[in-house]
Amino acid sequence: MTAGNGTVAEIRIAKRTGFCYGVREAIDKAKEASAAGKVTHTLGQVVHNEGVIRDLQSLGIETVDTLDDVDTGAAVVIRAHGVRPDVMERAASRGLEVIDGTCTWVIQEQKEIVKLVDEGYTIVLLGTPKHPEVVGLLGFAPNAIVVDEEEDWEQIPRRKKMALISQSTQPPWKFEKLAAFMVSRSHELKIVNTVCPVTIRRQEDTLETAREVDLMVVVGGRSSANTKELTRLCGIVGTRAIQIESVRDLTDAAAFKGARVVGVTGGTSTPIEDLHAVAQRILEMAGTAEARKNAAALADAAFALAATPAGRTTSLPTTLAAAG
Ligand code: SF4
Repeated sequence: MTAGNGTVAEIRIAKRTGFCYGVREAIDKAKEASAAGKVTHTLGQVVHNEGVIRDLQSLGIETVDTLDDVDTGAAVVIRAHGVRPDVMERAASRGLEVIDGTCTWVIQEQKEIVKLVDEGYTIVLLGTPKHPEVVGLLGFAPNAIVVDEEEDWEQIPRRKKMALISQSTQPPWKFEKLAAFMVSRSHELKIVNTVCPVTIRRQEDTLETAREVDLMVVVGGRSSANTKELTRLCGIVGTRAIQIESVRDLTDAAAFKGARVVGVTGGTSTPIEDLHAVAQRILEMAGTAEARKNAAALADAAFALAATPAGRTTSLPTTLAAAG
């Protein structure tokens, strides 16, 4: 906390934030399995969010790094990113109960990439090389060429028959730019647009909020591609943005100096409840005298406007969803 009052009078939380449906479903599946009395593990962290992992641990759901850490007969939840097909086979052969939390959109991507392999295309996959979703996809198409930033693109060979596909959370503009670039690399180019619609809507809503406020706070994993992109987009519309991982990173009231209206948005792995906590903290830390006094109520109001079933593509705490 700082001495003296700040300038923030209002917080706006971007619509359609919170977990994407893929992440929410994987978490729900893990909780359901545990509630049914199964010894439940998740293969890798379902989401890189400490609060969520703690919540799962309190229910007895542990994260494991490999299938070797799971006892025969126990349940193992595959997270939304999906896995290589051999991981599924190995889990089954070890007698584990596989609970497939692979997002339906990612399953679609996997099917599309298999089709491209069968059709004989040289495949270019736009994605972050070691990202679990990309690793999973490469299990279906081991020869696919993974490219990320523009400086990688020169390594794309010239082939007669090429196909382009994307990791779900890549920015649409990058996918379009790469598609244009690849026109000169091939005679026949097949483009399969697998950029996830949730990612696109979130970017639109973040832009809408960024245009209305003096400063944006973007909440999400430091290395998360979709979070970084949200920060970048705020800059494109001329709104300064601070990227944080959680409310604990909000320690410097000076960053909010002069800002009256602050917007808050989050990546697809950030629970919407975290955005509420961030909103309240900003008001307590950098609010006007009035805003500091009413920080909780103002944060509640901003949350209620954003977290409506009508405006969501994602998910809400069950109480809110039921109320809608
Ligand atoms: S971002 Fe889209 S594709 Fe990825 S897990 Fe979420 S809903 Fe599924």
